[in-house]
Amino acid sequence: MATDGGEPEPATGPEAGPIEALPAGAVGRFELEADVVVVGLGCAGACAAITAAEAGAEVLALEAAPLGGGTSAMSGGLIYLGGGTPVQTACGFRDTAEDMARFLLAACPGGDEAKVRAYCEGSVEHFGFLVEHGVPFASRFHPEPNREPPDDSGLVFSGGEDSWPFTEIAPPVPRGHHPQFPDSAGGFLMQCLLSAVHVAGARVVTDAVAERLVVDGGVVVGVVATVDGVDTPVRARRGVVLAAGGFMFNRPMVEHYCPEALRALVPLGTDHDDGRAIRMAQGVGAALEGMHHIEVGLPLTPPRTLVRGVLVNGRGERFLNEDTYLGRLGKEFLLRQDGQVYFVHDDDTFAVNLVGSKPRWVAASAAELEVEIGLPPGSLQATLERYNAHAERGEDPDFHKAPQWVRPLRPPYGVVDLRVASSIYAPFTLGGLRTSIDGEVLDQVGTPVPGLFAAGRTTAGIAGAGYVSGISLGDGTFFGRRAGRAAGRS
Ligand SMILES: Cc1cc2nc3c(=O)[nH]c(=O)nc-3n(C[C@H](O)[C@H](O)[C@H](O)COP(=O)(O)OP(=O)(O)OC[C@H]3O[C@@H](n4cnc5c(N)ncnc54)[C@H](O)[C@@H]3O)c2cc1C
Repeated sequence: MATDGGEPEPATGPEAGPIEALPAGAVGRFELEADVVVVGLGCAGACAAITAAEAGAEVLALEAAPLGGGTSAMSGGLIYLGGGTPVQTACGFRDTAEDMARFLLAACPGGDEAKVRAYCEGSVEHFGFLVEHGVPFASRFHPEPNREPPDDSGLVFSGGEDSWPFTEIAPPVPRGHHPQFPDSAGGFLMQCLLSAVHVAGARVVTDAVAERLVVDGGVVVGVVATVDGVDTPVRARRGVVLAAGGFMFNRPMVEHYCPEALRALVPLGTDHDDGRAIRMAQGVGAALEGMHHIEVGLPLTPPRTLVRGVLVNGRGERFLNEDTYLGRLGKEFLLRQDGQVYFVHDDDTFAVNLVGSKPRWVAASAAELEVEIGLPPGSLQATLERYNAHAERGEDPDFHKAPQWVRPLRPPYGVVDLRVASSIYAPFTLGGLRTSIDGEVLDQVGTPVPGLFAAGRTTAGIAGAGYVSGISLGDGTFFGRRAGRAAGRS
């Protein structure tokens, strides 16, 4: 590559190892250019591109895959929105931005409070943006929580709002908004958003892998991308938006930051969730946040009636209310119960769930089960005795499962094996770049890195140490818009 002075100069420093910062460099001549360069066309990148283009910026989106969509297109399509969206209101639920924030701050501890508040206050407007950009929602509530409805209903409980302790924190209101498409709606959502990218006039180049940032005088002024296998310097006159997903598929990064995720059988995402964009930003001094946080999906229900059973750990003890949000259970199982969990049922409470889980052990007594499973002698017997004694009165004073799910369990018992090596634990990463509420990438002291913006799972969003279904597509699209707007005007 020629420099201004005609001398060959490397675009970057030496290649770093798989978890280190990727150094940025200078280039002499750009092959492509635009006001705003968006890296990655999942939900966050699409919304950044739409917003920057609609604000009048010339936008170029670089997508590593042959088609846009990313992990967003594989997803269930649930988007966490509230504060009184038209769908909530039409379905008879009253919600406010304050209640939504109260819930999210409790369910997502350690998340960025300023982002949570901005998100909740802007949620109804953001719903309007999605609808205006071609994403329809049916005003129909689906009663089975925690996953996308099998039909095209528009609203579900998706974060445990109707279970303890959240019932004591804010009125239980469903906020999982499901685009009007049967079952998994992520592909449909991305079809809608990608056509809006096109309508907004953003230019898209696929098979284009952003490799490194380009800097000039401490300002990010572009990227070097491999386009169809050729190194291509791309100039961003106003800003670069990194929206390239997380790092679940960079094994050394996962090993380094959140090694528990490697125990799970089904990592979620695409090969492009390789953390490259995070490392590119580190190369210009960006700070990281929450890199150890992961979400762990677990298909325990539907049907929700299954939560009438009892979950015990490797010590034969209960540890959480079984009726809580599935992602909360998944994290608890993997991170605090060492991936060693058993689901105890009787004939009345058992049903085959969505993924066909069946009892691995059946026995006439808790004592026999302890021997068969290898639980400490007396442990399961004591747990069931105590649970049943309270359940006779419809109570669960230990873990506050809602009375409607509490009833004594009677032998014979069946036990579903939920240990991490034999069950579907599905993690993805939540940590990433530290950003402002406007998507500015921040350095170690909180100062914006000039010219650099980011959104989606490339950033630490609002999940923190918690999670609710719909928050990734939610914060990706919401803060993607803000990043696109800020990049376009900088
Ligand atoms: C099965 C499944 C179900 C899920 N269900 C839900 C749900 O219902 N609700 C919810 O909120 N979340 C859900 N999630 C999580 C959610 O889908 C993701 O966290 C979210 O889509 C991430 O969006 P993003 O825009 O940050 O990244 P992505 O959608 O992954 O987009 C990133 C894009 O960047 C591209 N890219 C990567 N590196 C480069 C590079 N160097 N140069 C150029 N392009 C690059 C990728 O190819 C990709 O297209 C689910 C995930 C899975 C796998």
